[in-house]
Amino acid sequence: MEDKKDIRALTKEQLRDFFVAQGDKAFRGNQVYEWLWSKGAHQFEDMTNIAKETRALLETHFVINHIQVDQMQRSADGTVKNAVRLHDGLVVESVLIPTETRTTACVSSQVGCSLDCNFCATARLKRMRNLQPDEIYDQVVAIDRESRLYYNHPLSNIVFMGMGEPLMNYPNVMKAIEKITSEEGLGMSPKRITVSTSGIPKMIKKMADDGVKFNLAVSLHSAIESTRNKIMPFTTNFPLTDLRESLEYWYKTTKSKVTYEYVVWRGINDNREAVDALVKFCKYVPCKVNLIEYNPIDDGEFQQASEEAIQAYITALEKNDIVVKVRRSRGKDIDAACGQLANKS
Ligand code: SAH
Repeated sequence: MEDKKDIRALTKEQLRDFFVAQGDKAFRGNQVYEWLWSKGAHQFEDMTNIAKETRALLETHFVINHIQVDQMQRSADGTVKNAVRLHDGLVVESVLIPTETRTTACVSSQVGCSLDCNFCATARLKRMRNLQPDEIYDQVVAIDRESRLYYNHPLSNIVFMGMGEPLMNYPNVMKAIEKITSEEGLGMSPKRITVSTSGIPKMIKKMADDGVKFNLAVSLHSAIESTRNKIMPFTTNFPLTDLRESLEYWYKTTKSKVTYEYVVWRGINDNREAVDALVKFCKYVPCKVNLIEYNPIDDGEFQQASEEAIQAYITALEKNDIVVKVRRSRGKDIDAACGQLANKS
């Protein structure tokens, strides 16, 4: 009986068809669908307005694969990190980041990561598998509950900046976002969702063609090819000219600004040439820059650059009318900050 199907892999239409095939009403499919998604039922028993025999029928055909928040850690700054156990025992992490006015969920898209950014702890885990749409959705639901519980307001924003490269699990990420934004799911506006990619040109173009309405962030870190290749070795397959072209296509198609994520490291990109290259790159498409504070992950191959070096970036970008923000890390004490997610505990 181990190969019972995950019921949440079914679309609403498939669920309606299932009931019709069983001699029941299609409408039953709608009811069960609502239990599975907007009501977040973990077991068929919870579906109280569904007849007992029908629940038993579902039980013989399907399972509900639900995530389980195994361990929750809370940082001194209010950041919460969830260790999320999947139905097959693998674990990913997601993070709740509260500010005065909002709560952001940082969610994972893969178990481990297929990329090899030298400065990221997740890159040291090998990619085990892609997350299913419902596994991504459930992380969001869990954070939304915690936000209501601890901060008295619902989740306001979602960033795909947890473990994994979302564009390497594109179909499932898209399905999860559809569910998050649909009225039958969480009804969140796509404008409050940001997908962060290390920059895979072909997929950026595909997203543009698909007419997505969420925001795009690109982990740039250097606008100099040789430097970027060194710190993000996989980018040798994705030259900056291709990235640039894909972003021009993105903007032309979606009219949506791009956010560049950028860490300034000592001895790597804390020099004039690197600053000038970034300013130049920023002129290709309307964008803004987030300078992210570096979160050390090891014995110091990478070190945060000096305040002066960071200021040099800010000054140069602002002089060129490019919006720049410095993002201080949150949740560092519990290894919940950018690049620190590695299932340590
Ligand atoms: N794979 C996606 C999303 C996950 S990483 C991407 O690359 O965008 C989320 C962000 O954290 C990326 O901008 C990434 O470059 C950055 N990051 C990774 N390791 C970091 C570290 N140690 N300190 C600060 N930021 C880091």
